[in-house]
Amino acid sequence: MKIIKVALDVPLATLFDYRHDAATELDVGCRVVVPFGKKRLVGVIMETADSSSVTSGRLKTAFDVLRDSPRLEESDLELLRFASHYYHYPLGAAVMGSLPPQLRRPRPPPSSRKNARGAAPAAELPTASSAPTLTPEQERALSTVLADPNRFQSHLVLGVTGSGKTEIYLQAIAAVLAAGRQALLLVPEISLTPQLETLVRARFPGMRVVALHSALSEHERTVNWLAAQSGHARVVLGTRLAVFAPMPRLGIIIIDEEHDASFKQTDRFRYSARDIAVVRASRVGVPVVLGSATPSLESYFNAVNGRYRLSTLTQRIGAPLPSIECVDTRGERLEDGLSARLRQALDEYVARGEQSLVFINRRGYAPVLMCHSCGWISGCHRCSAKLVLHLGERRLRCHHCGHAAAIPQACADCGNPQLAPMGQGTQRVEGALSQRYGKSGVLRIDRDSVRPRDAWNVMRRRIHGGEAKILVGTQILAKGHDFPNLNLVGVLNADSLLYSADFRAPERLLALLTQVSGRAGRGGTQGKVLIQTEFPEHSLYDALKRQDYRAFAELLLAERREAAFPPFTHQALLRAEAPRLQTALEFLRGAIVAARDIANLVTLYDPVPAAMPRRAGRERAQLLVQCESRSRLQQFLGEWCRKLEGRSSSARWIIDVDPLEL
Ligand SMILES: [Zn+2]
Ligand SMILES: [Zn+2]
Repeated sequence: MKIIKVALDVPLATLFDYRHDAATELDVGCRVVVPFGKKRLVGVIMETADSSSVTSGRLKTAFDVLRDSPRLEESDLELLRFASHYYHYPLGAAVMGSLPPQLRRPRPPPSSRKNARGAAPAAELPTASSAPTLTPEQERALSTVLADPNRFQSHLVLGVTGSGKTEIYLQAIAAVLAAGRQALLLVPEISLTPQLETLVRARFPGMRVVALHSALSEHERTVNWLAAQSGHARVVLGTRLAVFAPMPRLGIIIIDEEHDASFKQTDRFRYSARDIAVVRASRVGVPVVLGSATPSLESYFNAVNGRYRLSTLTQRIGAPLPSIECVDTRGERLEDGLSARLRQALDEYVARGEQSLVFINRRGYAPVLMCHSCGWISGCHRCSAKLVLHLGERRLRCHHCGHAAAIPQACADCGNPQLAPMGQGTQRVEGALSQRYGKSGVLRIDRDSVRPRDAWNVMRRRIHGGEAKILVGTQILAKGHDFPNLNLVGVLNADSLLYSADFRAPERLLALLTQVSGRAGRGGTQGKVLIQTEFPEHSLYDALKRQDYRAFAELLLAERREAAFPPFTHQALLRAEAPRLQTALEFLRGAIVAARDIANLVTLYDPVPAAMPRRAGRERAQLLVQCESRSRLQQFLGEWCRKLEGRSSSARWIIDVDPLEL
């Protein structure tokens, strides 16, 4: 009797045994259709065996082994096994989640060969472009990366914005392609733009370049994934999910903006694509390149202690670095959130016909609606969050659960009809600037305004055509776009991110402001950046003004060492949620008791409500676990999970290893 052990997308940390007498070892990695309860499910064969611990009466027979798509190689399965083990997430769900959605269903996949080149939209078909000459700094970084192409080595390329990191990636990829191998380029969700795709295609005409991200149609995603798996796609350009794409001739992995939070998945399978990429490169034995102007402290620490090779780029290409200035707003009455200094600068740049960007990290009209006579504020009844005023559509909206409500005519508590919007959002700043400079010259770019199909293309034309004089934008604009005529950047409300309970807040704010500042002056002239703040002496702004990431990173590292925070310790969170907060907290208190005999040198903190305790009607709480040794923490988590799985509670729980948000 031949048994196959199958990975299925079910929330149980086990493989499922089925009988399949024709199965051989060559079927490992194949998809298979099996009965599961009353359903037919697709799974992946992980192992074969000659016997099963399931009694033969209860053992079911598999329907079909699907040989219409290529099987996963042992190295692909090994990487998924590692990720499932490290993140304490069920193997079946991890394996099935790594496949494109069409391959999780029993229907045959489309042929990959027929659709070769299908993914490039006709208008974007590029003309070949040649590689520019590198600066000495770039040259050094590139030769460091390419020093030993057949050996694993992690590289950190730390380069100021505009220093030409992308060019280093492209030339490293060119070398890998010339050696007949494949390249994987991972970018944050927000920077995967059609322009970047066009740029990469243009550089490698005649080579198949495919994209992998969640916004593709299911069909495109399958075709591109199969092209990566067959080796026909020579360059795979993707977001975090692409880190698991099978690539038999992988020669290099590059992670751009490696500090970006979107590389970590924040629900279900909470993996970090950056960390998985490093593990993958080490298993395959190829270089991995992490690039950023503001690396995560974890990566920076690895570079200064010698685990990663560090290359630095200090010069911006084609233009000097922007001049960055803090505008002290203490004691100033701002007009619609704008200081006199910023208003005056906007006047000057508009008069000169140069573009400006006003950056504010809040969409909507105002973050909250308030009653000044009794103090009532608009809150979401499903979340611990405020409802944001969206004046254009005359609604209050929750940005966390999507709840929407009409704007009340009067205060719900005291009847006062004069409810006032508090604070600034993009729509309010857009309105104020439109009054000053005319509606046609002001363009708002946030998640609401780019939502309609083709909206972004229309906006790009208005920006590049010079019609838009002032852009009002959120983080959406911070990355991946070059506007050659944009020379002034004003930042509103930066302080709101400075003092937060999360120890990573300063690191994130520096990254964000560096990126936003980097938008200024990319066309050759020196850009100017004005940051409105009530804390102009803060060391973060000082580092930003001097463009000295390393000085600030050293400061933060010293603080982290003192407080025993990552990267000097390793963390995991046990997250629990339930309809009542008490249920979630009780579950976590029980988890502490369950850890008593196994938590050797592992510190467990008290259970606390999450930073946002209520979300979409569920109450959430968490328990932080910390240990100096990663392997000891891993061992503890494994044993702890097995104990927790046996407990009955109405709370849902998950382990988040190396959490980015506490
Ligand atoms: Zn009131
Ligand atoms: Zn809500």
